[in-house]
Amino acid sequence: MPELPEVEIARRNLERWFKGHRIVRAEADATRVFRGAELARFTRLTGRVETLERKGKYLLLTLEGGHGLMAHLGMTGKFVRREEGEPVSHSRARFHLEDGHVVHFSDPRLFGRLEPVAAKALWDLPAVKALGRDPLTEGLTGPQLEEAVGDSKQDLKVALMDQGRVAGLGNIHAAEALFRAGLHPARKPGTLTPDDWKHLARAIHAAFDFAFKEQEGEDITYLEEPGSANRFRVYGRAKGPCSKCGTPVESFTQGGRTTHFCPKCQPLSMVPSRVSRKGPAAGKGTAPAVASTKPRSRRR
Ligand SMILES: [Zn+2]
Repeated sequence: MPELPEVEIARRNLERWFKGHRIVRAEADATRVFRGAELARFTRLTGRVETLERKGKYLLLTLEGGHGLMAHLGMTGKFVRREEGEPVSHSRARFHLEDGHVVHFSDPRLFGRLEPVAAKALWDLPAVKALGRDPLTEGLTGPQLEEAVGDSKQDLKVALMDQGRVAGLGNIHAAEALFRAGLHPARKPGTLTPDDWKHLARAIHAAFDFAFKEQEGEDITYLEEPGSANRFRVYGRAKGPCSKCGTPVESFTQGGRTTHFCPKCQPLSMVPSRVSRKGPAAGKGTAPAVASTKPRSRRR
């Protein structure tokens, strides 16, 4: 399922494909990717693409003439470029370019979304306005991450996936970042130290960088698609050996989604890291309370 890195790869592809090539015709089928939006409005998306921005998992295009498009890839949506006349499965909308290519929005499961609106209204769309900080375009340091997520009472992984706090993290990259940072997904944000936030912010950037390195290209294959290899460190590896320590990776359900983690590299107790940092002579009263010893709803 596309998250920030996959949407950013789509943005870079679209930018390259549209650069110097005007859209001569835009057409789409009446599918639910348009939700309540006016389908006829999509056909006005012609001419030169002026800007192509992204916030979180949302793509925002503006074209000459003041037309705009908000695009969300949903679970299985992707933009693909083919020669004119070449068929594309599950193509829902098409931009015909003057260079003889067609850029298709392909989406088998139709959870994606296309919303043609006036260019000046794009950033005021409620879905876009509700988004929190984008780690790539707005930066994300330890203190900024703590400010965005620290007051959440939810489990850390669930809070990281709250698009109103940090925009762009989903089930895969939240799990990957927590694994890289050595933090248990069920930790409560209020229990993290400044160092934990710093490590987690760095881990988010590292998880994104890894995803760019592995997936950048014209034709992306999502993990859920048949034949795709799992290149991630912990996501989707339940019962397999942890890539760092060999301990079997565990999984449990969290916020309705399956979470993967290594019980050894990501201990739920926060005591060991505190002790090693401050030393045993940190004094009475400084030892933090130990959090509950198991995730609240382990997967059966
Ligand atoms: Zn491990």
